[in-house]
This record gives sequence, structure tokens and C-alpha cells, in this order.
Amino acid sequence: MSLIVQKYGGSSVATPELIRQVARRALDAKNQGHQIVVVLSAMKGETDRLLALASRMHPQPSPREVDQLLATGELTTASLFALACQTYGERAKSFSGLQAGIQTDNRHQRARIVNIDAARLRSELAKGRLVAVAGFQGATAGGDVTTLGRGGSDTTAVALAVALKADACEIYTDVEGIYTTDPGVCDRARKMDRISFEEMMELASLGAKVMEIRSVEFAMNYNMPIHVRHAHLPGAGTLICEEDTDMEKKPVVGVAYSKNEARITLLKVSDQPGTAAKILGIISASGIVVDMIIQNQSANIDPNSGEPHTDFSFTVPLSDYPKALELMRDTAAEIGAERIVGTDNIAKISLVGVGMRNHAGVAAQMFQALAREGINISLISTSEIKISCIIEKKYTELAVRALHDAFELHQA
Ligand code: ADP
Ligand code: ASP
Ligand code: MG
Repeated sequence: MSLIVQKYGGSSVATPELIRQVARRALDAKNQGHQIVVVLSAMKGETDRLLALASRMHPQPSPREVDQLLATGELTTASLFALACQTYGERAKSFSGLQAGIQTDNRHQRARIVNIDAARLRSELAKGRLVAVAGFQGATAGGDVTTLGRGGSDTTAVALAVALKADACEIYTDVEGIYTTDPGVCDRARKMDRISFEEMMELASLGAKVMEIRSVEFAMNYNMPIHVRHAHLPGAGTLICEEDTDMEKKPVVGVAYSKNEARITLLKVSDQPGTAAKILGIISASGIVVDMIIQNQSANIDPNSGEPHTDFSFTVPLSDYPKALELMRDTAAEIGAERIVGTDNIAKISLVGVGMRNHAGVAAQMFQALAREGINISLISTSEIKISCIIEKKYTELAVRALHDAFELHQA
């Protein structure tokens, strides 16, 4: 008998009828002789609705109360799912994150799982029950409810699969697997049969929201393969697993994009040792994570002071942009910057592939493809298995398609 953890995402459980359908699917798997744990997301739009309600009640709702509120979204689906199973005669039971033994740290709204005591779930499974767990949530050692960050039900599923030593972890969603790029943006996107943990982690961190990044990190650390499939269609889906020799040999396997960043530029900062450290020190002291950084080569001498100066740009998450801009404006004099400018009219577009390690020229080909469309690049960053460019937001979809074509990703 195998133990399978299945997770159903928000759009897959958007209506009572869809919840009934996924309950049927989970029961079919159980009837094939498996033990089944099902992790449920909130119904599509519910988390956003709850967040909006909290904001209407208080301009800056406290993170503890937000978590208390958001957790109800997943609780609702888990109970409805258990009820749907019961209409089919199955003695299913639903559990909150706390009841499922998921302990987290106390960073509300972005908590990390620190321990799972799966004894309760194990004993319910041993009684032959189908177990439904509310995703996206846990509780601190003191019993306060926490949530794991947007998309966090994926993490619940993988963490439970690891804790229960499951034989399979299946993520059911509204697309048929992992594609070469977002199929909602590029109709030539191709579903892959397999992708490595490493590549999936890059794609997720660069904006492909199909898998939440921490869930992939967890799966990679514990070598738990993830099977991504469509919730309401048959089909083999995509296996996210360790890199092997059968995997795609192309230098690039996927294109990701993100509209969730903003750029801040400090004009005419004094070009002296310690300037970058000072700027980034101020930003990181307030808990903001800087992504891309660029400093122009210093060529200019300030006519007044006779000192060399340069321009310094960096990107931050969109949600931290107002705070980061304010911090820079407040400390412009201290940093020695003449002017601070910022924009959120940017997008980050990235190519990912472990094959890049052994291929030269991927960056040049990327820049040429963007140039052919008249798309200007304002920042570039590279690592061993990815290249990212910042471009103007309005060109995002055009850039995705142009790069997908340039690297012939529609062909296996
Ligand atoms: P769920 O509600 O099931 O968690 P999400 O909305 O979080 O689903 O993720 C699924 C969506 O991710 C898809 O509808 C698709 O638009 C988007 N997506 C972005 N990049 C990719 C990709 N490379 N492959 C598949 N889907 C992708
Ligand atoms: N409901 C949460 C969200 O919308 C978690 C999830 O769906 O995974 O982000
Ligand atoms: Mg998701």
C-alpha cells in the first residue's frame, strides 16, 4: 500500500462542484488501495478577499490577526472537501495546520515550518480514513496560527509528504504540468515530462508561480519528487526530480517573468570604498531583500568636489518599493547621492537551464532576440543556470514569446 499526498490548488476547488470532483478523484486513488492525504488551498480569490476585508477594517492590520483570518480560507475548503467525501460514504476528516502537527516559527504571513508531528495524521490513516489538511498554515510552539506566504499550500503538501515518508507527492493545478513558459502568456509553451529540482527552483524564484519556491527547495533538500498534474484532466503531467542524463539537453529549458519588482537609482553617488556597503546596509537593515545591483563604471569627476562619482541602481520586491524609496531619500545626503529616482514600470525576464553551464553565447542570443523586438535592457544579472534582464513592463509578454521562439522551446 502506498501513501500519497495530493494537493489541490485554488482554481481547482473554486466551486462546491469542483470540490466534489476532486473529492471523487482522491477517493478513486484511495479505492485503488492507497492511503491518501489531501492538502487543500482556499477557493480561488478567497485569500485576496480576506486580505481586502482586513484592510477595510484596519489600515495596517496586525500580522497575527491577518494569519488568524487567512487560515479560515483553507479551513473552509478542507471541511467542504471532507463533507464531499462523506457524501460518497467515506469517513474523511479534515484538520487545520495546528491539528495536523505543523509547527512553524513566529514570522507571521511568511512563517517557516520547523517541525511536523504527524502522529495524529498517521493514526487516522491507520484507521483507514482519508485525511484532508488545510494548506498554507501552521502554528507556533505557543499555539498561534501562522501562514506560510502566498502559494504556501504547495509547501504544506511537500512538507507533509516528507514527514509522512510518502511514496508520492502530487500537486494538482489548473494546467497540465510544468511548461517551458507560462502557457497563459505563450500559446507555443510546451509541457515538459520532467524537470530538475534546480531548474524548477530557478523558474519559481524568477516568477513562475506554478510552484511555490520553498516547496521546491524542501523537495530538493529531502529528494521528494513532485508530480504536477491537471486537477480535472487525465494526463501524465510533469515530474520534478533530481537531474538525470535523460533530461532536456538544451541550454535553456524555460522562460520566466516577474512584474513584482521595482528599480531604484541613486544618481551621482560619490565613488568611494564603502558606498555600496552603506546603501545596501541601510536597505537590508530594514529587512528588504535586494535582487539585482548595478553600478556604472566611474568616469565622472564632480566639478565641485573634485571627487569621482557614479550611478548606482538596484531592484527590490514591489511590496517593499515605497519603503525602500523613502529610506534612500531620507539618507541621500548621508550616502552622498545627488538625486534618487525610482520606477515600478519594470519587469524581469529570465532564461533558465542547467545546460547553460556548458554553453557559451546564450546571453548574446538573448540580447539579440530582445533587440530584434526593439526592447531595451536596463539591468542584467547572470548565474550559472540563469540570465535575467530588466525591461519595460509593457514588453513583458512580447519578450516572453520572442525568447521562447529564439530558443525554439516549443520543440522537445
Ligand atoms: P494553484 O492555484 O493550483 O496553486 P497557481 O495559479 O498558483 O495554481 O499556478 C498555476 C499557474 O501558474 C498556471 O495557471 C500558469 O498560468 C502559471 N504558470 C507560470 N509559469 C508556468 C509554467 N512554466 N508552467 C506552468 N504554469 C505556469
Ligand atoms: N490560499 C493561499 C494563496 O492564495 C495559499 C495557496 O493557495 O497556496 O496564496
Ligand atoms: Mg499556487
